[in-house]
Amino acid sequence: MPGSLRIAIVGGGIGGLTAALALHTRGLDVRVFEQAEVLREIGAGVSIHPNAARLLRRVGLEDQLQKIGSPISRIVLRTSRGEPITSPEASGTPAFSSGDRGYNVHRADFLNLLFGALPKETVTLGHRCVQLKEEADRVRLSFANGASAEADVVIGADGIRSAVQREIGLQSRPTSEGIMAYRGLIPAERIPWADELKDPALWLGSGRSFLLYPVARGRLINMVAFVPSDVESEESWSAPGDLKMLAAEYAGWDQRVQDTINALGETFRWGIYDRAPLPYWSKERITLMGDAAHPMVPHVGQGAGQSIEDGFALAVLLEGCSAKDVAGRLKLYETIRRERTSKVQALARMAGKLYRSEHDDPARKAAGVREWMAQGTWVFGHDAERAAADALADFGR
Ligand SMILES: Cc1cc2nc3c(=O)[nH]c(=O)nc-3n(C[C@H](O)[C@H](O)[C@H](O)COP(=O)(O)OP(=O)(O)OC[C@H]3O[C@@H](n4cnc5c(N)ncnc54)[C@H](O)[C@@H]3O)c2cc1C
Repeated sequence: MPGSLRIAIVGGGIGGLTAALALHTRGLDVRVFEQAEVLREIGAGVSIHPNAARLLRRVGLEDQLQKIGSPISRIVLRTSRGEPITSPEASGTPAFSSGDRGYNVHRADFLNLLFGALPKETVTLGHRCVQLKEEADRVRLSFANGASAEADVVIGADGIRSAVQREIGLQSRPTSEGIMAYRGLIPAERIPWADELKDPALWLGSGRSFLLYPVARGRLINMVAFVPSDVESEESWSAPGDLKMLAAEYAGWDQRVQDTINALGETFRWGIYDRAPLPYWSKERITLMGDAAHPMVPHVGQGAGQSIEDGFALAVLLEGCSAKDVAGRLKLYETIRRERTSKVQALARMAGKLYRSEHDDPARKAAGVREWMAQGTWVFGHDAERAAADALADFGR
């Protein structure tokens, strides 16, 4: 593509691959450098809510999302004893009535879908970026294997321990939410009542919550069990967890919760951390996206969703951009996305606190859910491409 910007993305996770797809669809010249020798994802589910699903639909992924995903139409809420939390705001959730549908997917299926939608030569595996050097009119990338590359724009989509973040002079510190999660995947046939589980189900108890949703078209049930923690559990997604300790945390809860825990073959611990919003994301021709820019706690299911929004916003802002305008466009990207993702980060913390409030009263739990959902409809109804296009139009005036 002569004359077109050369865009390098560091990191081939959900954010990096989606950004590549959005940029490629707009005809931009993009390459992804991923450290792993083979693309792989942890065994877990991820929710793709309407704000992200509507963008993926526009690049032609609707049929494939339907094939791999379980549609989300509402969240079924219960107290720890299994009593329904029935306020219309809580179970009919305005969040899911924005017209577009979301999906729960297995992370590996989703990553494969994104990878398969890109031209083969887009993703280069086995390349861990170790250094970025800004030269007069380009950036030089160096990799641990001795290789190097150059690009007009570099996007750091390299997750919570981002090397690109470090290369632009930032250092963010993890902040614990004072909880940890046990997570696991269970074959549906091991849970006697799995047929009932069409939509995500969330049990809200005193200081704890328990989330289940189907993935892989209902073949597997994804579990995330949030419990208090005063130990600094590592910021890991895959440390082994103890099934007996997990069962003890939920002793006396609804039988469905206990059945699920008993059906688990293994569980993993996940330290729940986020980081305060960064003071900036971009430096000249380099910027950040996804968890490298704005890791968040998982209570509104938006970590992946916000990284998907970032990629589509970047594609709008970089389309038709000349090399001399790159720094200005990246600053514009940072301005619109930093404001939105900081609000989502704060909302996710607030939702977690309300979920785990120290009582087990259905009416008060419903009021808490209502409180965050009333503030959260803007999350699911957002159109990141339109917001970027509007910002660009204002910028050009
Ligand atoms: C168990 C679990 C459940 C979750 N559930 C949800 C959910 O329901 N909904 C939701 O929206 N979010 C969810 N999240 C959060 C979401 O998964 C993350 O926010 C999202 O994956 C961020 O994507 P990313 O591409 O920015 O980062 P990552 O997925 O971390 O990808 C970063 C990539 O960069 C690569 N990399 C790192 N360093 C380098 C380097 N130096 N050079 C080259 N490559 C590098 C890594 O190998 C990796 O492939 C969940 C997270 C977990 C762990």
